Amino acid sequence: MEKKIRNIRIIINPASGKGESILPVINSCMKEAGIKWEASITHEAGDAIQFAKDAVKEGIDALAVYGGDGTVMEAISGLIGSEIPLVILPGGSANVMATELGIPNDLKEACELLGEGSLETKTIDVGQFDKRYFIARISVGFEADVVKGAERETKNKIGIFAYFFSAVAALKKSKKAVYHLKIDGQEHEVKGLACFITNTGNLGFSKISFDKHIDVSDGLLDVIVVRKANLSMFKLMVVTWLKRERPDNLELVEHWQGKDISVSSSPKQAAQCDGEVLGKMPLHIKVIPGAIKVLVPKKTGKG
Ligand SMILES: [Mg+2]
Repeated sequence: MEKKIRNIRIIINPASGKGESILPVINSCMKEAGIKWEASITHEAGDAIQFAKDAVKEGIDALAVYGGDGTVMEAISGLIGSEIPLVILPGGSANVMATELGIPNDLKEACELLGEGSLETKTIDVGQFDKRYFIARISVGFEADVVKGAERETKNKIGIFAYFFSAVAALKKSKKAVYHLKIDGQEHEVKGLACFITNTGNLGFSKISFDKHIDVSDGLLDVIVVRKANLSMFKLMVVTWLKRERPDNLELVEHWQGKDISVSSSPKQAAQCDGEVLGKMPLHIKVIPGAIKVLVPKKTGKG
């Protein structure tokens, strides 16, 4: 039996979202559910971390976040070490973690779950590097160029299509690099277009997944090097998704799992973490197993 939520803090990133009216939707859902709520509005990077820490001290039953993966990541950074569960209200242009956890992409639908007793607690892993955290993935190469190319203004206007257009542009100019990896003490050198160190299997904007076996709660991060990005790669991803099988086409991708991962590339490529461009290489990344509790929709009979 899940603990009844009576008191919730909602961190809202007003810069995210699709221009929908946020407060009236939240207000009517919370009223319906009999939940007392307060909102904190972020203005700059780091605000959500502080709001989350403050809310934990003040005592709440759950912390909700309306925003994209960046805001969710900040809230998690502030929540780690507490037992308070996170509620994700998808508001960003890419909601990797929300998609992964089966949280509806619609604000009203996501909010209504709170009142229906249709949520359960799921413990998930968090990645850590450089004294900071990530929930979805770090990538080097191709995807980092996509993130760089998708400007905030374009993202606001056309959402995921900004990523798509940027992806096409990035693909045209992507060059191969050699990735130097150290995974739990084992060294690997692989040539490819992109390297992902991922906690989640999905790409955030569709149900197409790298690999259905990537598990957000298994205490391991998955390391994937994409060797070629062409139609076969795309086909492989679709087939992987349909068959729910681990890709074994080593010509296209290589795949490892580990708890302690170092990555660098030569020549140096752009890197991104949950949508934010990173400057520093090499990256030393670790997993914190079961770092955080998230309220997710209860599995129905199908699951
Ligand atoms: Mg995992």
